Amino acid sequence: VKKHGKNGYRYYSHELDSGLAEKMELEADLRKALERDELTVHYQPQFDTSDRSMIGIEALVRWNHPARGLLYPKTFIPLAEETGLIYDLGTWVLREACRQMKDWHDGGGPRIPVSVNLSSLQFHQNNLVGYVTRILEETGLAPEYLVLEITESMMMDPATSKAILDDLARLGIRISLDDFGTGYSSLSYLRQFPIHKLKIDRSFIADITMNDNDKAIVETIISMARHLNMNVIAEGIETEDQLEILKANACKEIQGYYFSRPLPPDELEKTFWTPIQA
Ligand code: C2E
Ligand code: CA
Ligand code: CA
Ligand code: CA
Repeated sequence: VKKHGKNGYRYYSHELDSGLAEKMELEADLRKALERDELTVHYQPQFDTSDRSMIGIEALVRWNHPARGLLYPKTFIPLAEETGLIYDLGTWVLREACRQMKDWHDGGGPRIPVSVNLSSLQFHQNNLVGYVTRILEETGLAPEYLVLEITESMMMDPATSKAILDDLARLGIRISLDDFGTGYSSLSYLRQFPIHKLKIDRSFIADITMNDNDKAIVETIISMARHLNMNVIAEGIETEDQLEILKANACKEIQGYYFSRPLPPDELEKTFWTPIQA
């Protein structure tokens, strides 16, 4: 925050310097992290509200920083985007998530898809379809078991976005529109784009038991998805009451702390299924 007053300038410049130094240090660390295998992926299961079966798993990147401990994406994804490291990071996460899911399929885990988050820069990268294809080939995961999560804000240019999405759809993978309802998108493209699923942003779920506007928005998204023949999932379910409202509104899929936090792969496995002994 920029401060005014007598010592305002000095204070501001000091803050800027320390922020910059810390940022540069973190950037250097992040470069090394990729080489030193410090990144890791946690997995959060998604469930069917009617029978509580697991229907998917979202991959969420973490950084095991040697000095700072476990870091969450908000501390390093923006930095990775600014520095271009997001390409290598994103490729690593995609490969790791596909490898892990193939491993689980082969080892007695549920035959469900893994969802991977894409940054806007990755979505617009030239060879996206090529490298997704390559990673699926390398890991042996069938395309129907991969979901890419993108956000409305990535699709500012509808023609370009449609071309990219059509290419991805031809591969046989599916697209989920993350944080849905928070962007400024025109609904008309929803019909034209090969989008498989709308993911209702957690900000609409948080107060849904008390806030009638949020509840109305969620009901509207669910009914719109049904009319457009899309699936819909609600994220950020933390309580039984929230779950009951979503069930009452025929929301088939949910994800949130109420069922499970994102977990390291071995913990997810231990909690939710029995692996085949090798
Ligand atoms: P997102 O894609 O919206 O992911 C959902 C976030 O909500 C995750 O935070 C998850 O841990 C958290 N969450 C899940 N259930 C609940 C709940 O019931 N209550 C609350 N309060 N939170 C819940 P996380 O893992 O810190 O990730 C934050 C964001 O970082 C993600 O938001 C996504 O935009 C980004 N991100 C994560 N992994 C990747 C990645 O591999 N690549 C890129 N480009 N972005 C990533
Ligand atoms: Ca997501
Ligand atoms: Ca989300
Ligand atoms: Ca979100």
